[in-house]
Amino acid sequence: MSVRVRFAPSPTGFMHVGNARTALFTHLFARHQGGTFVLRIEDTDTERHSEDAVNVIYDALKWMELSWDEGPLKGGNFGPYRQSERTDIYKEYIEILKEKGLVYECFCSKEELDNMRQEQLKKGLPPKYTGKCRHLTKDEKERLKKEGRKPVLRFKVPQDRIVIWKDLVKGAISIGAEQLGGDFVIVRSNGMPVYNFVVVIDDALMRISHVIRGEDHISNTPKQILLYEAFGFNVPEFAHLPMILGEDRSKLSKRHGSASVAEFKDKGYLPEAFTNFIALLGWYPKDGKEILSREELIERFDMKDVNSSPAIFNFEKLNWMNKEYIKAYDVSKLTEMIIPYLEKAGFDIGKFDRKWLEKVVDATRDYLTVLSEAPVYMETFLKDDFEIEKDAAEFMNEERLNVVKKFLEKVESAPEIDGELFKKIVKETGKELGAKGKNLFMPIRIALTGKMKGVELDILVSLLGKDRVVKRLHHAISKLERREP
Ligand code: GLU
Repeated sequence: MSVRVRFAPSPTGFMHVGNARTALFTHLFARHQGGTFVLRIEDTDTERHSEDAVNVIYDALKWMELSWDEGPLKGGNFGPYRQSERTDIYKEYIEILKEKGLVYECFCSKEELDNMRQEQLKKGLPPKYTGKCRHLTKDEKERLKKEGRKPVLRFKVPQDRIVIWKDLVKGAISIGAEQLGGDFVIVRSNGMPVYNFVVVIDDALMRISHVIRGEDHISNTPKQILLYEAFGFNVPEFAHLPMILGEDRSKLSKRHGSASVAEFKDKGYLPEAFTNFIALLGWYPKDGKEILSREELIERFDMKDVNSSPAIFNFEKLNWMNKEYIKAYDVSKLTEMIIPYLEKAGFDIGKFDRKWLEKVVDATRDYLTVLSEAPVYMETFLKDDFEIEKDAAEFMNEERLNVVKKFLEKVESAPEIDGELFKKIVKETGKELGAKGKNLFMPIRIALTGKMKGVELDILVSLLGKDRVVKRLHHAISKLERREP
């Protein structure tokens, strides 16, 4: 049997980390087995689903490089791949169930259902639909329709059945039909078929071999298996992935920091680092290697190694991993990704030479945890008309200002300046003025950056070049003399 798996998100407007992990595991599973990865958009709830929300899904998948073989924007032999375009198909299959006598109209109002529930609870029974409308006569139905009641369609749950499946992650699961809450609704009173019904039709018609999804869907699976059986479809394999929790062991949400893919992207996590980290949420390779390229993930991924207990989302580990990826990343690509953050921070990036910018990125990348921090570290290289910070201004006095002036004199008479020459000039300045240690280095740092802390000065100076160094020194001297910030 060929492996065909699908990722079936509902366009809610944001892609939760849990969904991203489902997409990734499904993708890795498909690629490892040489199977087909299908994307299906579950947008039956048309009112809630805007095109923007669908684009959020595409963007997240593209960012994580989870390309789909079949689906919207791509096509395939089993489309359409958006549920909103499959209504006619669903109607056809609803008719089949009607013909088989496996469904019936139910006219119970919300109030009646609530009362039913209350009574059961009072008796200490688990709430379920009693099957009240199962045996309505034609006349009774007509009368109820005349009253203006709009029926739902319920599926007749077979009694005394135990639904069993061997979950690829959770192991054998068995759920008695009596635990399903009675005959369940498959078409709402407004004519919309519900998730448990459409998902079965879609998975069956799309020839899905393995259904991979979050464990919050376990309670839906027995209902779906009963529907597969009702149609005589092959039942696929199921793999229910463990929940993702925050460190306080509650479901991961925005409260923990971020929970949606777009937020991680905006903060400046690299897609490779994020994906690598997500891959380790509930799965661990046998050889224990943690930094893994996409190829390595595909090669190692095995559903057998997916843990059945919840995965804890550890932000510290993600940060560590992102730092590692930033250190090793292709500098040109990294620069490309950093530029939007610089522009957002107000820098006119067009005026800098691209190769030079790459050198600045290279000089500062080790300081970064996420790319959104880049402007803070790169500012020193980009901004010549900086302000003098308060502690830096307070540190300066006449003697220290003289160090700066002497240093400037020497830079001006040099043909160009690089890291080596910088060190030499500093040494000479110190010797001539009898200044050393903090009294020598700090005034120069302050005059070049306006700050008391920062990057290595020889690197800064060699990247600025003589003209900009001279310009900065004049700028700082004039500010310090006039005691301006
Ligand atoms: N649309 C469902 C969800 O986003 C899909 C569940 C499934 O994979 O069956 O949770």
